[in-house]
Amino acid sequence: MERYLIESKHTASDCHHVVEQFIIHGHIMNFDWGCQAGEHTAWAFIEAENEPQALLSVPPSLRSKARAIQLNKFTPQTVEEYHK
Ligand SMILES: [Zn+2]
Repeated sequence: MERYLIESKHTASDCHHVVEQFIIHGHIMNFDWGCQAGEHTAWAFIEAENEPQALLSVPPSLRSKARAIQLNKFTPQTVEEYHK
């Protein structure tokens, strides 16, 4: 399993509709929301086999505009190798 950061943006005018879509989809509690700070974006850390599977956490109507970023950890040793 890989770890992904999911990012799903929307506009202030779409906010209510988008949040309802996440409730219907069943993933509302997996996401953290920037809406009350004026940043209309939802983020979640998801474990999945691949990017398409990670994006299943986003409601179908919003999925094409969402991003899934595969994450890795660096150790002091691996960061040395990565930047060589
Ligand atoms: Zn919002």
